[in-house]
Amino acid sequence: METIRRIKIIDVLKREDYGSEVNVKGWVRTRRGSKSVHFIALNDGSTINNVQIVADADKFDDELIKLITTGACLSVTGELVQSVGSGQAVEIRAREIEVLGTCGSDYPMQKKGQSMEYMRTHAHMRLRTNTFGAVFRIRHNMAMAVHRYFHEHGFFYFHTPIITASDCEGAGQMFQVTTKNLYDLKKDDEGKIDYSDDFFGKTTSLTVSGQLEGELGATALGAIYTFGPTFRAENSNTPRHLAEFWMIEPEVAFNDIHDNMDLAEDFIKYCVRWALEHCQDDLAFLNKMIDKTLLERLNFVVENDFVRLPYTKGIEILEEAVKNGRKFEFPIYWGADLASEHERYLVEEYFKRPVILTDYPKEIKAFYMKMNDDGKTVRAMDVLFPQIGEIIGGSEREENYDKLMARIEELNIPMKDMWWYLDTRRFGTCPHSGFGLGFERLILFVTGMQNIRDVIPFPRTPKNAEF
Ligand code: ATP
Ligand code: MN
Repeated sequence: METIRRIKIIDVLKREDYGSEVNVKGWVRTRRGSKSVHFIALNDGSTINNVQIVADADKFDDELIKLITTGACLSVTGELVQSVGSGQAVEIRAREIEVLGTCGSDYPMQKKGQSMEYMRTHAHMRLRTNTFGAVFRIRHNMAMAVHRYFHEHGFFYFHTPIITASDCEGAGQMFQVTTKNLYDLKKDDEGKIDYSDDFFGKTTSLTVSGQLEGELGATALGAIYTFGPTFRAENSNTPRHLAEFWMIEPEVAFNDIHDNMDLAEDFIKYCVRWALEHCQDDLAFLNKMIDKTLLERLNFVVENDFVRLPYTKGIEILEEAVKNGRKFEFPIYWGADLASEHERYLVEEYFKRPVILTDYPKEIKAFYMKMNDDGKTVRAMDVLFPQIGEIIGGSEREENYDKLMARIEELNIPMKDMWWYLDTRRFGTCPHSGFGLGFERLILFVTGMQNIRDVIPFPRTPKNAEF
C-alpha cells in the first residue's frame, strides 16, 4: 500500500478537496460510537481543534478499536469528507488505522475538568490537554511577537550572561553557582569559604537580570533587548513569582523616562494585538473555558491609553481611599513600597485601565535609577496591569558618574566586581533608559490564567523542581 505524506490537523481542517486521501497522526481526545460506527476526535497539537475520524465498525477489528482509548497515538489514512455534524467543515472517513502508541488506563489526563493543582502534579502530561496546548501555543506566539517588535524597531537581540559575578540587585536572593565540593570546603583563618580555587576563581551566581550588561550593549549598539532566563531565589510563594522565569529587557541610548514609557506601552500593545490576530482559536477557547472577560480585557488594553501617574499622586489616591473606608492588608504612606493590592486598586477600581506609576522614592528603588531634582525621588516607572499588578519595572538610568558613585557608597554596594559597569559612565556616558518585562506575567495576562505556574511548561518554585 502506498504511503501518503502526513499533514497537520491545522492544515487538514482548511481543506475542501473532498474525496482526496489524507494521512493524519495525533493523539486520541475521545472515542464514542455505536454498533455500526465509531467517532474519534484526534488532536496533533498544531491547533486547539480536533479532526473527527469516522470509522465504520464493519471495516475495523474490535481488537483494534479497543486500543483506541483517550491518549493513544494513531496514524489514520482515509478520505476527506464534508462533515455533517462534527463542528468542523471536514472529517476523515478512515480506510486504515494504525495504533502507534497505546495508552495505559492510568493515563493521568483521562478525565476532563481536572483542577489546575492536580495538573501541576502531572506537568509532564498536562501539555496534552486543550488548556495547556492553548497556553503554550500562545506563549510561542508571544515570543515571536517580542522578537518581531524589536527587530522591526531597529533593536539588536543581545545575549547577556546567565552566570554572573555581580550581585548588585539580588543580594541574598541569588542561586549560587559552584563546582566546589560542598562536603569539603576550604576555609580561611576567619572561617570564610575560599573561592579562589572555585571554577571561576570567585563567587558566582545565576543572573537576576541582564540589565547591567544590557547597558553596555545599548551604549555601543544604540538599542538592544535581552530575552532570556533569569533566576530569583526569593521565597515568595505567590501566583505571580517563579524562581526561574524569562525576562525581556530593552535598553536604549538617548531615551529618557518619557520615551521609555512610550516604548513600554507601544511594545505591550503590539504583543497583545499580535495575540488577538494570531491566536484566535486558542483565545476563543480560553475565553470560553478559563475567563469569560479575557477577550474584552485584551481589546481594552489595545484600544486605551495607559494612565501615567507619579507615585506621590498614587499615594494620595490610596490614602483618600483608606479615609473613605477602603481596607488594605498593608499600610499605605508616602515611602511605602506598594503591595499588589494597592497596585490593583489603582488599576482595577480607580482608573480601570493600565497605570504607569513613576517617580518613586529613591529608598525603594535600585541604585542605578536617575535622581530627580527633588533629591527624594527617582525616575522609575512600573507598569501596572489588571489582574497582574506589576508587569514591567524600569527607569531612566543615572548617567552621571559622581552621582552614581555617591549612591553606591550611600547604599554600601560592593563594587569590586562592578568596575566594568561604571566604565559606561567614564567613557562617553549618555542618557539612557530601559525596563524589564516578566515574560510569564505577560502570558498570564494574555491567557487569563490565574497562576504563573501554569504558563511555563515546567515551573520552578520553592521546593519544586520536578520534571
Ligand atoms: P515584584 O515586585 O512583582 O516581585 P520586582 O519589582 O522584584 O517584581 P523587577 O526586578 O522590577 O521585579 O523585574 C522586572 C519584571 O520581572 C517585573 O516587573 C516582573 O514582570 C518580572 N518578575 C520579577 N520577579 C519575578 C518572578 N519572581 N517571577 C516572575 N516574574 C518576575
Ligand atoms: Mn520592579
